[in-house]
Amino acid sequence: MSLPVKKNDQLDVYIEDLTHDGSGVAKVEGYPLFIPGSLPGETVRIHVVKTLKKYGFGKLLEIVQPAENRVEPPCPVFHVCGGCQVQHLTYEGQLAMKHSMVRSVIDRIAKLPHVPVHPVLGMENPWRYRNKSQIPFGTQNGRMVSGFYKTRTHEIVDTDVCLIQQPEGDDILQALTNEFEKLGVMPYDEETGRGMLRHVVIRKGFATGEIMVVLITKKKKWAEKEQVVEAVRRIVPDVTSIIQNVNSEKTNVIFGNETLTLWGKDTITDTIGDVKFDISARSFYQVNPVQTEVLYGKALEYANLTGGESVIDAYCGIGTISLFLAKNAKHVYGVEIVPEAIEDAKKNAAINGISNATFEAGPAEVVIPNWYKQGVKADVLVVDPPRKGCDETLLQTIITERPKKIVYVSCNPATLARDLRILEDGGYETKEVQPVDMFPQTTHCEAVAWLELR
Ligand code: SAH
Repeated sequence: MSLPVKKNDQLDVYIEDLTHDGSGVAKVEGYPLFIPGSLPGETVRIHVVKTLKKYGFGKLLEIVQPAENRVEPPCPVFHVCGGCQVQHLTYEGQLAMKHSMVRSVIDRIAKLPHVPVHPVLGMENPWRYRNKSQIPFGTQNGRMVSGFYKTRTHEIVDTDVCLIQQPEGDDILQALTNEFEKLGVMPYDEETGRGMLRHVVIRKGFATGEIMVVLITKKKKWAEKEQVVEAVRRIVPDVTSIIQNVNSEKTNVIFGNETLTLWGKDTITDTIGDVKFDISARSFYQVNPVQTEVLYGKALEYANLTGGESVIDAYCGIGTISLFLAKNAKHVYGVEIVPEAIEDAKKNAAINGISNATFEAGPAEVVIPNWYKQGVKADVLVVDPPRKGCDETLLQTIITERPKKIVYVSCNPATLARDLRILEDGGYETKEVQPVDMFPQTTHCEAVAWLELR
């Protein structure tokens, strides 16, 4: 069967849709073509670069008729950097796109077309919102470079400006890179496994102003260590914590297992609402503090606690949601797989004077069934799993143990929808879904769902 287009064809197409990774989709006689950089509602001239049996790819040559909501992306490296995908879309356009992404999976995957999906809760100022940056180092043309990865590659885009990070991050990054090069610190090379410095992770407590700088190295022993600490303290005068993390594996996972404090505190402190949190280098902490309050506020509203409830918080991280809910509950039980995060959670309960929270390290799908065996009974269960969604065993435990209410916080609408279908079939009713924009300028979308036992 012949395809309606072939490689190297040039043609004008109308963009109908946008994929979850921000690529425009056109259809030529029903044959889908993916065209990165194009937006729904516009006509573009393309060069066909690849054709497969069921779909193909085009390169954008010219925008013939732009979409109404197209804007000039403010970032100079938007077209090469893989960090943001939709800076060329107005913020209203981004929110509408995310709403339709969630709506579509709730319809198709969860098969719940009657369930309300509310308009996305967005930000007043959708720039400079991140409290954490993770920057890889490398060598280009014999010079040390740092920046962010190109889309779908591990090639570094050499830049020190990032419009979704904190402004001081830009200066810090440039100065650190120059200083490291001067000191002769060798950037780690993913291909050969040679070199020392893999990543720098910078985290800032928005409420406290504290800054943690984490240097991820290949080895623990490091000749330039003292000078590097001195340089970081000079370049980042507000730094409160300098940490080394050792990762000797050939992997694209950033953190290794060994963490050492080189200078200052082991953790940084931040607050959400009126709860204070100590966060260690490896622990998960939401990257958008402004929207975290919106997200947790919604979770609290859906939990609708009166003070007498027993709550389980699965995938609890450093206990953020648990401690946010604890004041309105009888007892909260949090479980999380990273042991340091659980250590943080226990400390965080103590520094906030919260005594009705219990934390345990381990996989949620193992710990929660054990809790039920020991007689812990949850009235409300909160889950906030990573992108792959809830573990199948955990969903089965929920269906067997039948907590009255579930609040599902999700960073991946597709797995949320899959899990909602399983819970619906197991006896739950999805009441509503509220998307929250935690990641402006990107296609990532967060959502909270509220379920009740039928
Ligand atoms: N609720 C927290 C963390 C959410 S991120 C917050 O809002 O800050 C998801 C968390 O799930 C991460 O901390 C990750 O380490 C943890 N995790 C991943 N797999 C897990 C599992 N099988 N069991 C328990 N926790 C897990």
